[in-house]
Amino acid sequence: MAPVKKRNCDLCYSNVKVKALEHVALNTRHEALRDLVMRARSQPDLADLTAAICSLWRFVANVSNWRVLCRMDQEFIVVDSQAQQVTIAYDYQLSDLEKLLWSSRIPRHLKRKNKCDELIQLEELLHETQVEDVAMLPLDPSGRGLQFYLIIASGPFGFSRLDLKFIQDVGMLLASEMSDRLITQKLMNTLQQNAREDSLTRLANRRYFEEVFDVSWRNATRNNEPLSLLMIDVDHFKIYNDTFGHVAGDACLRAVADAIRSAIRRPLDFCARMGGEEFGVLLPNTREDGAIAMANRIIAAVDALTIPHMVSGFSSMVSVSIGSATCVPKRHENSLCLVEAADEALYEAKSKGRHQVRVAQFKECETKTSATGSDGGSQSPIGEAPEY
Ligand code: GH3
Ligand code: MG
Ligand code: MG
Repeated sequence: MAPVKKRNCDLCYSNVKVKALEHVALNTRHEALRDLVMRARSQPDLADLTAAICSLWRFVANVSNWRVLCRMDQEFIVVDSQAQQVTIAYDYQLSDLEKLLWSSRIPRHLKRKNKCDELIQLEELLHETQVEDVAMLPLDPSGRGLQFYLIIASGPFGFSRLDLKFIQDVGMLLASEMSDRLITQKLMNTLQQNAREDSLTRLANRRYFEEVFDVSWRNATRNNEPLSLLMIDVDHFKIYNDTFGHVAGDACLRAVADAIRSAIRRPLDFCARMGGEEFGVLLPNTREDGAIAMANRIIAAVDALTIPHMVSGFSSMVSVSIGSATCVPKRHENSLCLVEAADEALYEAKSKGRHQVRVAQFKECETKTSATGSDGGSQSPIGEAPEY
């Protein structure tokens, strides 16, 4: 009988040991979580918050890599544990994974050995191929229209039951803290966007144009590169408004803005509504011939709108005039010289009959305008433009 008794004791002993170990682990995690709550609350922005969580998480649970996906309206926000930074990805393509994530609110926990299609997709998302376990947890902290999903990979020993419980608690904390900061950040982004955007045309406004112009001028000076500026003005727009009314006038300005936007090809080219029916286009690292080609493309794009107009009783179409100026800025020069030169060229285009581009000769702040047409006349050679 004695051996049986001994076996029972062993069993009792090992149960007690396991319970004691679990107790210690639970206490450690409880303390870690309390510490994390304190730290999370004191982090002002999302990046600091995720960094604080990153630094602690790995040591308390067997976590090697994690991501939080958040959906806010049409935006996906991805928080990556490796980069320790917040990426706001407006065009994040979840495609098939989206169905997987959004179709169920039940936590999933996938072992490497029962690897299935889902695990492969999740691994891809984590950019990690050598993971033992992957868990996907939907988190719902606030019900404020934000959806959070935590995707997490374990280290080499997989997740224990305690790991998963702890991960879920930290995930809930992270999501609830993130939601406050994301809502604030979104508000700030909207305010910043409004401060830079013209509300009628959705182009950059004058203030933003000036900021970009300043940076482009300094870059061009530093790199000894040409910088071109186009000033664009809608022809006879007062009559258009008087004839068709302000609502039609606004629609016309929106269409002209879209035509200008569509004519722009290089990523660094920048267009803005300067005010009224005037627009500006900034062309970094662009020589005079390139600027003329661009101006002609804009004139052609506006012509292609074929918006009917009436000038002096004659049927016509809405058109634009453009002044172009180019320079390689020198340190002692003032950037206003380029604006004045483009304005002068625009004035010249107007006085020579409109619907054309005129080019300013820019020489160290001394400028004079000239025609771009081969005949030296008023009309620019649309269609014969040099390659841009
Ligand atoms: P020009 O060919 O010499 O440029 O003649 P213009 O009539 O276009 O120039 P002018 O500066 O005399 O008139 C500009 C007009 O643009 C005045 C105003 O009626 C109109 N305008 C300015 N801002 C807006 C706007 O936001 N909406 C609308 N609908 N019209 C505007
Ligand atoms: Mg004007
Ligand atoms: Mg005008």
